[in-house]
Amino acid sequence: MLKNPRKQWTAFLLWLLVVPTSLYLVYMMFPFKEIDMWFVLLNFIMLIIAMSSSFQIFSISISLERWIIFVIFFQYGLFAEMVFMQLALTILQFVRKSSLPAFYRFTTNSLMFVIVSIVSAFFFYFAGGRIVEMSPWAFLIAATVYAVSYSFINSLVLYLIMKIEKASFDNFKQVALWDFAITIVVLPLAVAYSLLTYKLGGFSVLLLGAPFLLVLLIIRRYAFSGELNKKLSSAVEIGHELTESLSRDEVIKIFTEKIQGVVNYDQAYILDIRNGNRFQMLACSEAGTFSKESQFFDFENDAIPLLSPDKIKVYSSSKEIEKLEYLRFSIAVQSVMIAPIIRAGKLEGYLIMTSFRKNFFEDLDKKMVDLLTGYFETSIVKAFHYERTIEKSEKCGLTKLYNFRYLTKKLSDELSLFHEQEISSLSAIILDIDHFKSINDNYGHQSGNDILCEFAQILKKYETDGRTLARYGGEEFVLLLPDFLKEEAVSLAERIRLEIEQHTFTIKPDLSDDIESIGIKLTVSLGVSSIPEDTQSESSLLRNADRALYIGGKQAGRNRVGVYEAEPTDPIEI
Ligand code: GH3
Ligand code: MG
Ligand code: MG
Repeated sequence: MLKNPRKQWTAFLLWLLVVPTSLYLVYMMFPFKEIDMWFVLLNFIMLIIAMSSSFQIFSISISLERWIIFVIFFQYGLFAEMVFMQLALTILQFVRKSSLPAFYRFTTNSLMFVIVSIVSAFFFYFAGGRIVEMSPWAFLIAATVYAVSYSFINSLVLYLIMKIEKASFDNFKQVALWDFAITIVVLPLAVAYSLLTYKLGGFSVLLLGAPFLLVLLIIRRYAFSGELNKKLSSAVEIGHELTESLSRDEVIKIFTEKIQGVVNYDQAYILDIRNGNRFQMLACSEAGTFSKESQFFDFENDAIPLLSPDKIKVYSSSKEIEKLEYLRFSIAVQSVMIAPIIRAGKLEGYLIMTSFRKNFFEDLDKKMVDLLTGYFETSIVKAFHYERTIEKSEKCGLTKLYNFRYLTKKLSDELSLFHEQEISSLSAIILDIDHFKSINDNYGHQSGNDILCEFAQILKKYETDGRTLARYGGEEFVLLLPDFLKEEAVSLAERIRLEIEQHTFTIKPDLSDDIESIGIKLTVSLGVSSIPEDTQSESSLLRNADRALYIGGKQAGRNRVGVYEAEPTDPIEI
């Protein structure tokens, strides 16, 4: 977006200074001969069609209006060509898409073409060209000089504007080359058209003008189907990538980022609907940055019932966007597309894409978004089930802590990290609730379960910073502590022991008729062992900790932290 209004005013003043004066001077110097109104009008219509029928080749926008501009110049001279071009530019402001304000765009384009027209006309006259009858060869030479200089000056002025605007223009060379190639291709046509018009008058429109326009429209159609094919195959590729990802976060990221290759946008948001009445932003892409929070977009949950639940809707101007009162976009946003994300007939959320340009989203974009949101939804569901299955296989059903299977896997991962020197130490604490059997015996198995859950909740507080907490079995738990030295692990174990000792557990005894909750006191014994202090092997780390628990904890009277100590080796008797 153009943020600087001073720049707009400077462009306007420059335009005021240059354009009317040049037109006046050119009119005085090169008054044009009588014109054929019908010929000019028909060509003007064709010019507007040609200008608004640009198409993409290798991602470069191409339009063939130059061909008609040249003919007008060859027929009626510089003044006619300039007026023709200026009128066409004025009309084009309403047709073409651009992120720049229309007024600024008009003044700069108008200025640019006045320069291009005057300088290239100068080369034409310099090369001996006259707007009178001349030999076809002499005409062809002058016309070639004119066309080449037209293309060259056009690219040069464009380059200077880009420099002034400090715009990044990576493919400038390509654009300039295409411009030159197109000019060379249309030149013989323009020359033929001019010569024919000279001989036959307005009849030439029928013989050359109209057929050429037809060819142009066919090329455009062909280029469109090429573009469509390209977009479809990118969409299918994105679809594959989405269905291959096994995590929801990854699916969301791939979808938000990759969709831009198919449907261009300035910002995109994925809103999930929670409990049917609350929006939650899952992802956001603004200025090419992916995150979970937006800088420029805010919404109220009241918007949910107002949005179309089953159809993609496009809003193409800031006026239309104002209607979306509960969705607050940045004021620079000029186009919005809102696509429902539907799973099994149920509305799950929305994909919202915005652009700084007016009338930005087209029918093709809607179709592509429709296709891609379908892929997205199936992939999200698949990833969700996969994550659930993994979680189930790695977690304990009662306490929701990691299970023994996960613990062994994690232990071997941590050990690899230790051997790769990514972590400098690894400690383990084993915890075993004291006299737990008596809880079951006195209050019932269900109360025992409740205590295990409450116990797990207390331990969960300690599962921070990459630590792992798992239920080892029965009433035994393990805390894995990467980058913990033995003494640090011992003091953490002591903190936990104290917290359990001071905590009162609440149970509803299921053996008696009494339904009143009661408080219960418990203690825990712990065992600590560390790598590298005690061992370097993963299998002995837990074994050592267990041994420390048994000897230093249980045997020593329970409610204690046992610290592993290597047994003294027997002296060898000689
Ligand atoms: P110690 O102080 O020596 O550890 O005594 P303890 O009673 O805690 O140890 P013991 O190994 O003799 O008993 C453990 C008990 O834990 C036996 C079993 O009934 C109980 N237990 C194991 N898993 C569960 C469970 O998932 N739910 C319930 N309620 N009890 C369990
Ligand atoms: Mg036990
Ligand atoms: Mg026990």
